[in-house]
Amino acid sequence: MNIYLDNAATTAIDSEVLNAMMPYLYRYYGNPSSNHSLGRKVHEAIETSRKTIADILNVFPEEIFFTSGATEANNWAITSSLDAYRIKHIITSPIEHKSILETYTEHFYKNKIKLSFVNLDKKGNVNLGHLTKLLSENPRSLVSLMHVNNEIGNITNLEEVSEIAKTYRAVVHSDTVQSLGKIQLNLGTNGVDFAVGSAHKIHGPKGIGFLFARKRTTLNTLLHGGGQERGYRGGTENVASIVGFAKALEIADQNIEKNKKHLAFLKERLIGSLLKLGLDDFEFNGESDSLTNSLPNILNARFPSLPDNKLLLNILDEQGIQVSSGSACLNLSKGGSHVISSLYPKSDGENVRFSFSKYNSLFEIDTTARAIARAFRSEKRKIVVNELSYVHA
Ligand code: PMP
Repeated sequence: MNIYLDNAATTAIDSEVLNAMMPYLYRYYGNPSSNHSLGRKVHEAIETSRKTIADILNVFPEEIFFTSGATEANNWAITSSLDAYRIKHIITSPIEHKSILETYTEHFYKNKIKLSFVNLDKKGNVNLGHLTKLLSENPRSLVSLMHVNNEIGNITNLEEVSEIAKTYRAVVHSDTVQSLGKIQLNLGTNGVDFAVGSAHKIHGPKGIGFLFARKRTTLNTLLHGGGQERGYRGGTENVASIVGFAKALEIADQNIEKNKKHLAFLKERLIGSLLKLGLDDFEFNGESDSLTNSLPNILNARFPSLPDNKLLLNILDEQGIQVSSGSACLNLSKGGSHVISSLYPKSDGENVRFSFSKYNSLFEIDTTARAIARAFRSEKRKIVVNELSYVHA
């Protein structure tokens, strides 16, 4: 049995996406910069993919720059806007993705940029009054706030953020990785200057992403080379993956309402099953148990600690159920979750993120809930048995 509930970390590739990519891995192998028919055919595939993505996001194709993923795109957007606009002050939140926080930390130390964190409420929502105050004290800042948090699923209203930011002539960057293809994302109207995407979060291939940079913005040249990506990012393009990304976004966009319904149904079911367990010290993190304020495919919960340092994550893994203790990037660096620890600094227990996809079924959700119930039931029994043997001793 394999039940994959770690879709905020990455997703399984869609077979339709794979089929769209195959010709560009095998048959159409020309270099897109070559001036012959095979090269032109491949170049055309890149530009068609760029247009597909741009149309879905309601922007111009020239505003989409392909990258190796969202980490690169976030780094690029931030460094470009600091350089180009000589911005000396950044406003962000402590629960952004590490590709943002660590880029800011680097600029903070190296370039003496002032860094302010906007206040969040106890569920992780941005305090817009505080954002306004920070901007009124530091106009012409760079505001960096993610659209959807990858650990707790909280959705931030980007239109509201941009409106406030524009009053103070601020530049707006948003990490839109988790919202892309899952909820409405209209980059043409939401006012952000920079946004990012990554194909592997929406059943596309790994190693391909984009940076959206609005026309009026200025970009640094990221890689000097053969003039690809209009001279801003040299290097032969990852053609098959670009084609796969466009296909993945097209499929996600066409099925957005259907998927939202399915994912919300799974989430509601798991919320109900977990609450029924009646565990002490059990809580949902952030807005993740809300069907309106968080992404339908992310549910993050704090469970009571199991005895003997056992982790629910490992117990589930042994039964073929894959969940996450936060973001996958954090597991790599072995730290706890910076999102959970900044929202709940005093809490203990084990935080588990369940993230679903269109491929998950109700049966899988119920099987997971039963496995969790068993884990806590058997641990309870063991505690009672231990206590009895202590009495007898
Ligand atoms: N931002 C967010 C919110 C993410 O969830 C991730 C993936 N963990 C990234 C950025 C980085 O994306 P990529 O893997 O494409 O570099």
